[in-house]
Amino acid sequence: MSENHDENVKNENTGSPGILSPDLRSMTLPELQDFLQELGEPKFRAGQLFSWLHEKCARTPEEMTNLPASLRQRVADGIFAAETVQVQVSAEDGTRKYLFRMPDGELVESVLLRYHHGNTVCVSSQVGCRMGCSFCASTLKGLSRSLRPSEILEQIYAITRDTGERISNVVVMGMGEPLDNYENVLRFIELLTCEGGLHISQRNVTVSTCGLVPEIRKLAGEHLQITLAISLHAATDAQRQAIMPIAKRYALKELMEACAFYVEETGRRVTFEYSLIRGVNDTEEDAQNLSKLAKPLGAHVNLIPVNPVRETGMQPTERGQVLAFQKKLESRGVNATIRRELGRDIDGACGQLRNRNLTDETAL
Ligand code: SAH
Repeated sequence: MSENHDENVKNENTGSPGILSPDLRSMTLPELQDFLQELGEPKFRAGQLFSWLHEKCARTPEEMTNLPASLRQRVADGIFAAETVQVQVSAEDGTRKYLFRMPDGELVESVLLRYHHGNTVCVSSQVGCRMGCSFCASTLKGLSRSLRPSEILEQIYAITRDTGERISNVVVMGMGEPLDNYENVLRFIELLTCEGGLHISQRNVTVSTCGLVPEIRKLAGEHLQITLAISLHAATDAQRQAIMPIAKRYALKELMEACAFYVEETGRRVTFEYSLIRGVNDTEEDAQNLSKLAKPLGAHVNLIPVNPVRETGMQPTERGQVLAFQKKLESRGVNATIRRELGRDIDGACGQLRNRNLTDETAL
């Protein structure tokens, strides 16, 4: 992988030192049963606790009124809730960007997007990111650490508590590379979609990756019904390598083969995310190359005029050319939509979430 990636490996810390162990909101129901059994509690208590943690999105044990006070006390140290530090509301479209503090003080951003078809939450899977894509703000300060299942879930639960509204869709498209935090993200999906929790349909969950080939293949083998989105952004190896370090590790050919394997194993289509950057990847020839990759896979293409990030200096392709690019794809039999960008005015759009601390000038 890229130098950036390798340099950061030694700094990786996948644990969350601030969370008291055990982390009950990261446990499956059978694990909770074992845990409570060891405390000498009857089995049915696990179901009650699980429901408080995942269906009712309880913040504290005090809310768990059908549990005996003694038990509430004993589990208190294992239950953490995200602390809401800030909510920014877009004046343009009502999108809400949340800043949450995790138990060890790390800050994480999540976004609530209100579409006609329901509420979507975009969650972060890591604090920062080590993938180094040149157009993305999340990677500017590298990776601090990966998030635990409970910490990813809490972003959704805290938003549910705040708005009282049902969340129907979840996209793992915030800060971080979800497949660089594979086990935790997988467990997050399990807890999010299971019957005893919010029970969000797997089909309404999207995981977006910059293209970690072995993990895509592994994910295919899980046979989930989630949507896999590939952040492609370029349709030749040379172009992709110029903006995405991961492309130096995995050639497009390998990536496309992994996508084909995913489609074959799961029966689900993949989506290609393609940010249009002025003068970089937005010519007719680029559209033609992209159609050659998308067509055989039956992949849907999401076009996103690149969102401004102060540090990158990249400019979005102008509207007329975006439409022409879309038309070119469609004329070649590729389904392409132009993503409506919500929350741009609060830096809540794709690639605008950043790893930060409260002393950053942009923080508060
Ligand atoms: N690491 C994962 C998920 C997070 S990024 C991934 O790479 O897919 C979510 C999406 O936003 C990705 O498609 C990413 O490439 C895109 N993105 C990043 N920066 C962007 C920007 N400045 N403008 C538009 N999209 C951007």
